[in-house]
Amino acid sequence: MPSSRPRVVIIGGNFAGLVAASRLPCDYDVTVVDARADFEWTPNIHEILSGVKDRDGVVLPRAECVSRYGHSFVHDAVTEIDHDNNSVTTESGLALPYDACLIAAGSQRTTFGIEGADEHALGFRLVDDAVRIASRIDKLAARKRRASIVIVGGGVSGVEALGEILRRRAQGDEFNIHVVELESRILDQLPQGLASDALQRFAPYPVTLHTDSSVTHVDARSVTLGGGRKLTADLCIWSAGMTLPDFLRDTGLNETDDEWLPVDDTLQSRYADNIFVAGDCAALPVPVRKQAYYAMDMGEVAGDNISRWLRDRRLRRFRAAPMPMLISFGDITTWLVAGESVVASPVLAAAKEGVYEVTMARLESPKEPLRYSADVVGRAAMATRQLLLPQLTPSKLFLGLVGSRIIP
Ligand SMILES: Cc1cc2nc3c(=O)[nH]c(=O)nc-3n(C[C@H](O)[C@H](O)[C@H](O)COP(=O)(O)OP(=O)(O)OC[C@H]3O[C@@H](n4cnc5c(N)ncnc54)[C@H](O)[C@@H]3O)c2cc1C
Repeated sequence: MPSSRPRVVIIGGNFAGLVAASRLPCDYDVTVVDARADFEWTPNIHEILSGVKDRDGVVLPRAECVSRYGHSFVHDAVTEIDHDNNSVTTESGLALPYDACLIAAGSQRTTFGIEGADEHALGFRLVDDAVRIASRIDKLAARKRRASIVIVGGGVSGVEALGEILRRRAQGDEFNIHVVELESRILDQLPQGLASDALQRFAPYPVTLHTDSSVTHVDARSVTLGGGRKLTADLCIWSAGMTLPDFLRDTGLNETDDEWLPVDDTLQSRYADNIFVAGDCAALPVPVRKQAYYAMDMGEVAGDNISRWLRDRRLRRFRAAPMPMLISFGDITTWLVAGESVVASPVLAAAKEGVYEVTMARLESPKEPLRYSADVVGRAAMATRQLLLPQLTPSKLFLGLVGSRIIP
């Protein structure tokens, strides 16, 4: 029987979508649709590369979270949004009519059409990507010959991946690692001092940096750079480039096909009043960094605004609060970046872990974060053993505190 409650469809149930769902009351018939079964905590997937976390350590069962919020979950991929007829269609042929819709489908990787990249480079965006890379690294570590790993992209995720591969040196694995970056320095969107500090941190290890370098070709054994230089690549990790998900291209919700979906400062689509957009796929009037914490803040405002719009009430404005960033570099250090200020300290890893645990508990059960805590306890125990205890030995703690530095 059709529901008499207003229908809300949320496309994508990760950071923005799940937070929005948690804000919507059960007066609405809310359906969250996601192509993947689990919520994925992307900011920590690099830790799978060294084994300090495993798959279960960074996921939550989405269906359980959504049902705890009192809503329905559909595990399916959306293929079409028909905003003239207010309906969403999925890959399995399901039609989901809506009164209001939230698009929170994030982004997808792009290899910019570089020959061989899709076939031979392993993407680094999803939990399964990280599991696949970790398994390849395990195999390479077992070889007699020292293997060569090429990381394409010297942004935050590329640097965090490098840190985790270096963390493995404790297991006796050493690789030749190349980092290829198109810009003139790594971490180019962040303060110069951070990039200089990172360079000093990886100077003792077999890491070669190629800045101002584009990749022109990838094959099963090598990566070719502009200018013709070939790097041996037993493994190529692609940590560069993101774009609008394919299914959002022909929706008529943007001016040009590949543009992020424009919204006003209430996160309402510029092209349809009953469609809101939150997270990475939104183009805000004042752009923000595509980060999980902004996605969650947008999810909160979008959830509230859908409720308000359905009740004909005034909409809230989204204002991005400045947020510090925590960037980890294996067991070598963690950087805290706030505006132009950077602090480096190995003990900041504990702060990053704390943010993660608290947010996972909140997402699991926003109203009673401790009630459904079996997973949280399991994850916290693993993280404490693998991440915190090694930092809390008297000598490491001393070095960590002494080694805490403000970077000019
Ligand atoms: C390796 C890596 C490291 C990162 N580190 C950090 C960090 O340290 N700190 C930080 O703040 N941010 C970090 N980010 C960025 C952060 O992960 C994103 O900003 C955040 O995930 C955006 O949230 P979102 O909800 O908009 O999209 P996503 O988290 O990407 O979620 C989109 C959801 O939509 C679903 N979806 C997509 N297409 C469809 C479809 N057709 N049908 C149904 N469902 C669909 C997906 O399955 C997914 O669940 C990192 C990202 C990566 C890749």
